[in-house]
Parts: sequence; C-alpha cells; structure tokens
Amino acid sequence: MMETKPSEKSECMDEFQLKKEANGKDSKKNGVRWGPNHAGAKELKDLYSGGKRVQELISVSVTTTLCIYIGFKLVHNFSADYWLSSVLAALGGILLADFFSGLVHWAADSYGSVTLPIFGAAFIRPFREHHIDPTAITRHDFIETNGDNFMLPLPYLAYQAYKLTTYSPDEVRQIYSFECFMFLLALFVMATNQIHKWSHTYFGLPKWITVLQDAHIILPRKHHRIHHVAPHETYFCITTGWLNYPMEKFHFWTCVERAIEVVTGIKPRVDDLAWGKKSN
Ligand SMILES: [Zn+2]
Ligand SMILES: [Zn+2]
Repeated sequence: MMETKPSEKSECMDEFQLKKEANGKDSKKNGVRWGPNHAGAKELKDLYSGGKRVQELISVSVTTTLCIYIGFKLVHNFSADYWLSSVLAALGGILLADFFSGLVHWAADSYGSVTLPIFGAAFIRPFREHHIDPTAITRHDFIETNGDNFMLPLPYLAYQAYKLTTYSPDEVRQIYSFECFMFLLALFVMATNQIHKWSHTYFGLPKWITVLQDAHIILPRKHHRIHHVAPHETYFCITTGWLNYPMEKFHFWTCVERAIEVVTGIKPRVDDLAWGKKSN
C-alpha cells in the first residue's frame, strides 16, 4: 500500500516527539503542549468510570467465549470443497472491518460531544483523549483497550452461535462461506484497537507484530501517524489501513462531511478542536 500524504497536511511528528510521547511525556506542537499533562487529557482520563469498566469486562468475556465456540464449530464443519470461497469471504470480512473502523473512528472524531448523556463520556471520550494524548492508549490495559470493540460484534456472534448449534449439516453447508465472512469481520473488528495500540507502541513490541506492520498486513506505525496531524481529518481506517489511500484519493470523508454540512449545517470536529485548545 502506498505511503503518500496530501501536501496540505505535510507535518508529521518527528522521531523526538514520538519518543517523548512514547515515554509518557508531553511534547510541544504548534505552540500547544500535547501529552498526559495537557489540561484536556487529564480531565478526559478522570471521566473513565467504574460502570464503564464493568461494561468492558462483560463485553470481553462474553465475546471471547462466543468466538471460541464459533471457531470450534467452523473448524468442525470445514470441508475442502469450499476452501476458496471461505478464504475469499474471509478476506472480504477483513476489508469490511477496515472500512467500519474508519467509519466509526471518523464519526466519533468528527461529530458528537463528550457532554452527550451517557454515550458521550462512555464512547466519545476515548477518541478525544486519543488526539491530545496519543500514547495514553499504550498505558491502557487489555480490557480498557479492547472492551468497546469486543462489544460491537456481540449481537451477531450470539445469533451465529445459535445458527451453528441448531441448523442441520446441510443448512450449515449452505451458509458456511457467509459465516466465515462474518466471523473474520467480527475478529478484525475486535482486534482493531489492539492493532491501533501497537501502531502507537515504539518500544518492546514482539518481532511478529513488527513483521506484520512492516508487511502492511496490520496498521503500520508510520502510516497511522498521518492521521495524528491536526486537525485529524484523514486516514481514519485503523485495522489494516488498506482503504486509507484510495479513500483519500477519492476525497471520501471530505465529500461526506460537505454533504452533512449542506443538509444539517453541522461542521465536523468542532468538539475535537475545542478539547485540543484546553489549557490549565
Ligand atoms: Zn482520530
Ligand atoms: Zn492513533
């Protein structure tokens, strides 16, 4: 995948800033202090609640159990007759997961506010925190990093488990490729924020992860840095990042934002910019 950058957004963080941020220290960019001591970052960190933690714990444990069960069922029902359609379906699932990662990331970055009842503090807050303290994610444990992404595919996985349990072998054969597609879609949606966390981790990553990043099988570190240039308006896909270049080429996000502004009058990223400007 090509690593190009639109010319008007040319500034990336340099290695010095990245290392400072990776060590949990602040860095200064465009006269603004970014990092864990940014006034907005501290306020957003404090909004992580006990109730939110419980929701994340339930999501991770239920979804993991369902995935182990479904994985076992799919392996048990596998037949060499439909290996090609299963592999193609699985690849389609990975591609769609990348698109969904961009869609959710773009929507949460660009619209809504932390002050929205329940939803704002629970689901918008992590996106605002991530822009003003990008390496906070590297200090989050497995549950905080992955809780929300594990919740998203849960309803379909429950339905899938039901189908694979109650359908006859003939009926399972008919839906097998589609269920492979949905299963890989679910797995990559679940893995998205872990992959995103790795793209911000500059020290101590296992070799196999950096090999996958360098081969652009998962989101590479340099590739994701393009998104972290204020005002954070491009390269929203964070699973594999395969769709970022073509979507930027076709101005996909800009076109959707303009259409929304024409119809509703709502400008993108107003709340995100306000958090970025917070000071003590
Ligand atoms: Zn973002
Ligand atoms: Zn990021």
